[in-house]
Amino acid sequence: MTTSAYIHIPFCKSKCKYCSFISYTDKTVEQQSEYINTLLKEIDFFYKKEPLKTLYIGGGTPSLLDISDLKKIIGKFKFDSNPEITIEINPETVDKKYLSGLYMNGFNRLSVGIQSFDNKILQSIGRIHTAQRALQTVKNAKEAGFKNISLDFIYGLPAQTLDMFIKDLELAVKMEISHISLYGLKIEEGCSFFNFAPKHLPDDDTQADMYLAAIDILEHNGFSHYEISNFARCGFESKHNLNYWNDREYYGFGAAAHGYISPVRYSNHRSIEEYQKKYKEKDVLEKIDETKHLEETIFLGFRKAEGIDVQNINKIFNIDFEYSYRKILKKYLESGHLIKTESGYKLSNEGFLISNFILADFIDC
Ligand code: SF4
Repeated sequence: MTTSAYIHIPFCKSKCKYCSFISYTDKTVEQQSEYINTLLKEIDFFYKKEPLKTLYIGGGTPSLLDISDLKKIIGKFKFDSNPEITIEINPETVDKKYLSGLYMNGFNRLSVGIQSFDNKILQSIGRIHTAQRALQTVKNAKEAGFKNISLDFIYGLPAQTLDMFIKDLELAVKMEISHISLYGLKIEEGCSFFNFAPKHLPDDDTQADMYLAAIDILEHNGFSHYEISNFARCGFESKHNLNYWNDREYYGFGAAAHGYISPVRYSNHRSIEEYQKKYKEKDVLEKIDETKHLEETIFLGFRKAEGIDVQNINKIFNIDFEYSYRKILKKYLESGHLIKTESGYKLSNEGFLISNFILADFIDC
């Protein structure tokens, strides 16, 4: 049964220089309304009325929408008794009244795009908010009733030093929020930094130091490092993201959204014009056969701090995991990038740093 849904809202006030997501900054209110109407039709057409455990509205900047539109979207779904309903917000687009509106209409988790508390850095990467605005937003969100607040940070930003990043995290910890996501800056095709490389980028070693320092600070302040990029206070792990990492099904609604309804991973049309014309068409990205399923189980399992459960894998796929992967296991156990656990294997913190290489080795095996 599919009990999670992701909804993509592809509108932003302006484009951040590091961003290569699908988002438009030039759409009128009327065009946004038209998009919402298509979205509602798509949900009507595909959603089979299963009670959802998680709903995640991301973007783009979903907090650019009116509360009335968000209410219409939420109103399309049934929920189980204790759902997690998340919306991504940009501090510059919300005030106290808006946050109360979100809370009163059923949202119970916020993902706040902070990225940095340094105003010079924020400006240099094209963010529209300031550190002061971000701090006020978290305060307002708490006053509106939100207990489950996640903050997003990026490390490895232009002119960012290890000390600056540590200060950001120390401030975040003091704010008594429940969840933190950390992403290392990656400059990909399609973003402004790809064409105009920023100066003073921290090198790979500094980025690695930032990641390891973050683990240290957050773990010493009551956060558990439950996934490669995610940290939570006990009980506040993201249920929606765990659904992805546990390789379960989810709907994807909206332009460029991805979904997984076993055995098919699909995506919607990327441009909103195409999506609006052909919202009933899904692009089949891949059919998940047994080999692919095993690869995904390994890949997603190693993203989680608990790692993979060997017995479980052996049972599901009728293999002897430790025999099949003996060479890779030996190599990375000896190098300290893998750790043996009671039920299987997990990546060490140094292993997380080079997880792409390690996982590629498992997949190519
Ligand atoms: S990073 Fe977020 S707010 Fe910035 S342009 Fe991309 S989607 Fe929009």
